[in-house]
Amino acid sequence: MRTIEKTGGSSQYQIPEKMRAAVLFGPGDLRIVERPVPVPGPQNVLIKVAACAICGTDLKITSHPFPGQPPFGEFIPGHEYVGTVVSVGDTVTEFTPGDRVAVEAHKGCMRCENCIKGDYTSCLNYGNVEMGHHASGFTVPGGFAEYVVHHINAVYKIPDSISFEEATMVTTTGTPLYGLDVAGGFIAGESIAVIGPGPIGLMTTAIVRGLAADPVILVGTNEPRMKLGAEFGATDLVRAKGQDAVNQVRELTGGLGVDLAIDCAGGPGTLDDALRMTKLGGRILLLAFYKESVTADISHAVRSDITIFTTRGEGRSACRRGLSMMKQGLIPAKKMITHEFKLEDIMEGFATFRERRGNAIKVLVKP
Ligand SMILES: [Zn+2]
Ligand SMILES: [Zn+2]
Repeated sequence: MRTIEKTGGSSQYQIPEKMRAAVLFGPGDLRIVERPVPVPGPQNVLIKVAACAICGTDLKITSHPFPGQPPFGEFIPGHEYVGTVVSVGDTVTEFTPGDRVAVEAHKGCMRCENCIKGDYTSCLNYGNVEMGHHASGFTVPGGFAEYVVHHINAVYKIPDSISFEEATMVTTTGTPLYGLDVAGGFIAGESIAVIGPGPIGLMTTAIVRGLAADPVILVGTNEPRMKLGAEFGATDLVRAKGQDAVNQVRELTGGLGVDLAIDCAGGPGTLDDALRMTKLGGRILLLAFYKESVTADISHAVRSDITIFTTRGEGRSACRRGLSMMKQGLIPAKKMITHEFKLEDIMEGFATFRERRGNAIKVLVKP
């Protein structure tokens, strides 16, 4: 048992030697087992996990091994976690025990050309733990556990007014905010179409509305999620796909199309839909992983002077800006969280999320 004094206070954190963690033993075989509590390195903090959200990526990586994944029997997934700092590494002055924190998964190697430029989500040493790249819950142990260590570069203090549950949504805010950053942002009053009312689409809707886009047109067909889209700030709901959706978006924008179309769906035809609902000279931002190769009329983009942007993950400290928008009351993060499970029931949580039981959107696991 290690005992840590909280700086400037009388409270102490009793840190046990062992913890419960969800460890992957094979494809789809996640078991709750005992593991040693990790010890933070010089630039790390040890976080007592309060909650960890299940992400679509978790479903993929726990069913299909990916290159760089820790071996079966060692791998603890989970990358959308929040908690309390209970101990800090030797050189850490940025955090003290007792701080409530949220994280982003990626920590760049900070030695390659891209990391030096700040583009750490495209770290040239991606997946190479020895070289200093860490992707928490992907290449190093993550947050489906009682404790986790993470590098201070990717840890953010949670403002007092934001609950742990809401703060688990910070990664989901980071994806659209980073994408918008790379796409050059937009000016208040510009028109935006968001395709796909999943977690990223709903969050994108709230963010662009919070930043005063007008209109904000949400395109999708899942009715419960579309309803929620209105609560997330969509000014118009287009319940259609394909050419129907394109026609309706064009109608809503006086026949011109939107200034910016954001594809959060990644369907077989959604890139082409995005192209056709965008104004001449407009922009497209792709925030989805496409299940397979897709076809789209790229000549239409060239003829129409449309620029296409893509981003991966959060990047450029976008999570910090997401927390700020939450603090300002611009993101109704709580409405996205539909279910909570204990760590012991994580497999039920995964099934609930995968099968969208009870209209599941975001599902939390609490150790
Ligand atoms: Zn995620
Ligand atoms: Zn790097």
